[in-house]
Amino acid sequence: MSETHGGFPDFDESDEYLLALRKELNTPLDTDYFLLDADLPQDAKDARAKMRQYVNAEVLPKINGYWERAEFPYEMLPGLAATGLVGGVIKDHGAAGLSRLAAGLATAELARGDGSVNTFLGVQANLSMGTINMLGSEDQKERWLPGMVKLEKIGAFALTEPRRGSDSAQLETSARREGENWVINGAKRWIGNGSMAHLVIIWARDVADGEVKGFVMEREDPTDPSTMPAGFNARTIDGKIGKRAILQADMVFENLAIPESNRLPGANSFRDTSRVLASTRGGATWESLGHALACFEAAVAYTRVRDQFGQPIGNTQLVQNTLADMLAELSAIQLICYRMAELQESGAWTGTMASIAKMHTANKARTIANQARDLMGGNGLLLDFHVARHLTDMEVVHTYEGTEFIQSLLIGRKITGHSAF
Ligand SMILES: Cc1cc2nc3c(=O)[nH]c(=O)nc-3n(C[C@H](O)[C@H](O)[C@H](O)COP(=O)(O)OP(=O)(O)OC[C@H]3O[C@@H](n4cnc5c(N)ncnc54)[C@H](O)[C@@H]3O)c2cc1C
Repeated sequence: MSETHGGFPDFDESDEYLLALRKELNTPLDTDYFLLDADLPQDAKDARAKMRQYVNAEVLPKINGYWERAEFPYEMLPGLAATGLVGGVIKDHGAAGLSRLAAGLATAELARGDGSVNTFLGVQANLSMGTINMLGSEDQKERWLPGMVKLEKIGAFALTEPRRGSDSAQLETSARREGENWVINGAKRWIGNGSMAHLVIIWARDVADGEVKGFVMEREDPTDPSTMPAGFNARTIDGKIGKRAILQADMVFENLAIPESNRLPGANSFRDTSRVLASTRGGATWESLGHALACFEAAVAYTRVRDQFGQPIGNTQLVQNTLADMLAELSAIQLICYRMAELQESGAWTGTMASIAKMHTANKARTIANQARDLMGGNGLLLDFHVARHLTDMEVVHTYEGTEFIQSLLIGRKITGHSAF
């Protein structure tokens, strides 16, 4: 299925063994063992192809440097906007209006290239644009979405707090109405794009009725400290071991004033927040597919060429057993993803299905990344071979969009009728 592995390291051209390895790493693999491509509509093929072209040309050749320096790759944004895929399933306001399958395959393709850029797009398009599209007024959509589609305006989604992670429904940030403004006090943690966003969606509890509401804080120019709204502070979290090329922020609000015109009228309780999260939860599932594909293909290519004890390690029973196990789990992830898209499209997709899909695919993709790293020996630890980056990026996927334990508690509640949390 894949046309190229583009972006693998430029080996020393004089070393024949490394040249053979490079050739193998760039050889297309058929990772579609259940013939899912045969039924793929043209629009989904096109979306995947466009994203693949972007990833191979702009992301893979440069991402490892950004990842190592923990810098956001701003230079990759114009190319991403030019794919025309930003905004995913959102219709109108210049967004792509993709089918669920096309949007999902584009996500998987981007994650196959890199997790940081994919998470940037997920925060921008699914969480931030998705919230405005679902809960904003027509005026607000027209005001913010076109600039966000072009990636001229960057969005952030501020829900998690220092004391409220998995139990974010209990969030403590407060909102108090004062005349035409709302006054926000509290703190947020782990907010993707937080320090570089023009538009920060802040979830806060209205002190008057105790309900969670959504507010959009605007910044003219996030690179210019003089445009920082009074009472708002965002600090990038340093020292992260995964998704290092997207920045998360700690935020503090001290009497931050937000005009009533920036309150999202459709956000009137945490149930509305949950509706946004439910609509975006498939993102981590497609993302897991992308990481798993990248790792499986790299491991196959590597084990075909790497010689030990007088033969390619791929000729050994233990390695073949590991590859077979990886492929079986990868195929299961693919089947879950494609079925998820069908059920989302028909409206039959439920929260329990989303929990099963997220829990299972993230768990298995994490294992596949680990197996690939192992099969690549010491080289599996090097950024140059990409798998190390996918491995640590999968640690993040395992935790966000609901941890594995939390997903299992949601599923357990459905099975037994008893809530254990
Ligand atoms: C890189 C990254 C990006 C993120 N981006 C965003 C973002 O853009 N916006 C945003 O709002 N948030 C974001 N998050 C936050 C993310 O959603 C939370 O990290 C996640 O919900 C888990 O919360 P926590 O880290 O506080 O862990 P905790 O909730 O403290 O959980 C710690 C451990 O305890 C377990 N646990 C918790 N409760 C129970 C229970 N009842 N029973 C059994 N086990 C339990 C968990 O499964 C986990 O293993 C991001 C996080 C990361 C790491």
